[in-house]
Amino acid sequence: MIRRYRLGSGRAYPVSLPVVVTEPLVRVQGLEKSYRRGRRIVSALSGVDLIVPRGELLLVMGPSGGGKSTLLNLIGGLDSPDGGTIRVAGCDVTGESGRGLDRYRRDHIGFVFQFFNLIPTLDARDNVALALLARATPWRESRRKAEELLESLGLGERLGHTPAEMSGGEQQRVAIARAIAGDPVLLLADEPTGDVDAVTTASIMEMLVGLNRSRGLTIVAVTHDPALIEYAHRVVTLRDGRLEG
Ligand code: ADP
Repeated sequence: MIRRYRLGSGRAYPVSLPVVVTEPLVRVQGLEKSYRRGRRIVSALSGVDLIVPRGELLLVMGPSGGGKSTLLNLIGGLDSPDGGTIRVAGCDVTGESGRGLDRYRRDHIGFVFQFFNLIPTLDARDNVALALLARATPWRESRRKAEELLESLGLGERLGHTPAEMSGGEQQRVAIARAIAGDPVLLLADEPTGDVDAVTTASIMEMLVGLNRSRGLTIVAVTHDPALIEYAHRVVTLRDGRLEG
């Protein structure tokens, strides 16, 4: 099935570019997660069902405390649910633990966080190279590949810069390069534009849209910023742990 999606200010990517939506990449069924807070049990997710087709750029929105980060962490195998199932690219995430989950995260998932989480003492190239080293690529080769990737993403002039020497937007774009260095099938972004201004938000979102269109990278991003809606194929809302829309 071919659908055409509106792409608001994603100026670098023509509005008419078709996206082929194929089989589900992510299948979440009946997801439940609670946390204990003192004597109280807080329900973070309650009976959440979600299907994300391959190639989709999905936004998860909703009020603070609605369960967005919890959902992202569970899909990414950073935490385990109390009930329900998650399948990603045929992998039964909820059936994995320990090393199986480590492998799942390493081989399938790229993470992007609000505060970039780059290593402050390393330059852009080495921050990205470290992600490749963790996938058993020799260091010299990791640095070469990191350099190629950063150049292809328009960050060639920042190779030798540490995070303190880059703007917030540049740091986030390096963090995105690091997240995709291992060729993940799914990119999970938690408030990727939460700490930057409107102009920088546009540059980060255009980079994500570019990766989505050029590589077919499936992206699930959590945000409370309505400015991101125009970049997404679909928006779902999480409120009080329940999915709407
Ligand atoms: P959102 O990302 O939409 O702001 P969260 O997923 O962070 O929502 O949180 C959902 C609910 O779960 C909130 O009530 C939050 O306080 C609670 N919660 C999340 N993580 C924890 C935790 N580690 N311990 C206790 N409560 C938590």
